[in-house]
Amino acid sequence: MKDIKKIKEDFIKESSQVETIQGLNELRVRYLGKKGIVTDGLRRLSELPREERPKFGKVLNELKRFIESEIKSLQQQLESEEAKKRVLSESIDITLPGRYIPPGKRHPVTQVLDEIVNTFVSMGFEVEEGPEVELDYYNFEALNIPKDHPAREMQDTFYVKPSSVDNDSTTESDIVLRTHTSPVQIRGMKKRTPPFRFIAPGKVYRCDADVSHTPMFHQVEGLMVGENITFSHLKGVLELFIHCLFGPETPVKFRPSYFPFTEPSTEVDIGCILCSGEGCRVCKGTGWLEVLGAGMVHPKVFEAVGYDTEKYQGFAFGMGVERLTMLKYKIDDIRLFFENDVRFLRQF
Ligand SMILES: [Zn+2]
Repeated sequence: MKDIKKIKEDFIKESSQVETIQGLNELRVRYLGKKGIVTDGLRRLSELPREERPKFGKVLNELKRFIESEIKSLQQQLESEEAKKRVLSESIDITLPGRYIPPGKRHPVTQVLDEIVNTFVSMGFEVEEGPEVELDYYNFEALNIPKDHPAREMQDTFYVKPSSVDNDSTTESDIVLRTHTSPVQIRGMKKRTPPFRFIAPGKVYRCDADVSHTPMFHQVEGLMVGENITFSHLKGVLELFIHCLFGPETPVKFRPSYFPFTEPSTEVDIGCILCSGEGCRVCKGTGWLEVLGAGMVHPKVFEAVGYDTEKYQGFAFGMGVERLTMLKYKIDDIRLFFENDVRFLRQF
């Protein structure tokens, strides 16, 4: 009994000296742990004579509960003290304004691309996608542009060397980064039978870099094929498209041109939106701006995909999304689109 009293006194003395949570944990282990003083006392009850055990057991258990509740209240006290100390030492300035996270938005090129896609979808066109790393065959050959064709010069591109080809080898690669979205038209035609109409929007690549060219830019090409498709369908669809994008009053002009994969071919001009046709620096004094190319699909292209050229006709068109965005928002340098300057981008 004396020993138990002594244990209690020791505990009270020691607990009054505890100042940290860690110290309290050590105290708990010393008294209540597996080899702790109280635990040991309870274990040694069996050494006592049977009739004495209940008496000592009761006192020891009371001591155990006393120590447990003391430790618990000490712990709460220490925790709140430590929390207070932490708050004081961190010295938070609650008057500091929060950090502003500017809301993001779509890039102007993406906005115009979406507008173009939506306009054609509303006219019943499907959307077709294809690979940006393309076979020479789909990018050139199937579009009536054989290896020695001068049109290849205008569209010189990035060739991709397959890993199986030795780096020093001078063999020409037949894999390119597509120079236009026309290969998607070939792929799209191969899996369809006329009549159909679809557009192919996406990124294309050319070895060009100046105020109006970047090595990567976006194109939307489109194709409509059927049994009685004529040049007037081409005019109707493209005029409607231009009026949707630039406004219903915009003058539209069709001018003869040349593309290897269409015959006849045409460039489509709109009345200069900067000078309203009076002539300025942007339209080089002509009052007109070229916005897209189009034409009736060349029979050789239909032959390449196995269509009956006597039965089917169709028209195709293609446009540069950056150029249309520049005209729509009167931007004079294409490189601004890709410099990631938010002062420029947040204007749209
Ligand atoms: Zn002008």
